[in-house]
Amino acid sequence: MKPIATPKYSGAISQPGRRKAALRDDGGTPGGNAPLALPYLSGYAPALQQQVRDWLEAGKAGKWLLDRHPEAHNRRTDKSLYDYVDALRNEHLRNAGLLHKVAYDSKIHVVRNALGLHTRRAIAHGGRLNARHEIHVASMFKHAPEAFLHMICVHELAHLRELDHDKAFYQLCTYMEPQYHQLEFEVRLYLSYLDTGGAPLWGAGAEGRA
Ligand SMILES: [Zn+2]
Repeated sequence: MKPIATPKYSGAISQPGRRKAALRDDGGTPGGNAPLALPYLSGYAPALQQQVRDWLEAGKAGKWLLDRHPEAHNRRTDKSLYDYVDALRNEHLRNAGLLHKVAYDSKIHVVRNALGLHTRRAIAHGGRLNARHEIHVASMFKHAPEAFLHMICVHELAHLRELDHDKAFYQLCTYMEPQYHQLEFEVRLYLSYLDTGGAPLWGAGAEGRA
């Protein structure tokens, strides 16, 4: 089978990307009139989804994101990620239990809601059961703005207290990051942009630039 050529980034959605999205959406009829599928934004209002569709099709989403977040963070090692998340925990959730591990994880395939992962394992400790908390962040966020990393870490940290994505959970997220909802939208916009053939905006190529 011939490998699918990587479309050169032109700012607009590539035709293969559009076709792929259409295929996903209408169950396999190429050339159907189905709107561009936006799996990462399916929870948002239809009007907002339509606006995003227009931005993506007009090639505006990447520039908009870069204008908002020109810089990438530099926390690229697991150690620096641990320190970052642990400082957040200390600031906001001091009594929530220790973090045993924080790491970038290339095995997290970023689909739908899984941007990071929080695991809680019960371990026997001196006759009591203690939770062992681990936070894994999808490694694509190694090359991302600090605001995106912050949003994901806040989300995973909030799971130390609240397991479900309910009202209490999102209140905790917005307590730690007042812009939480806006940032989650922007992260999902970025994922949609990549999903429709856009080139990474804060890739390794941007490293070393002052
Ligand atoms: Zn979650």
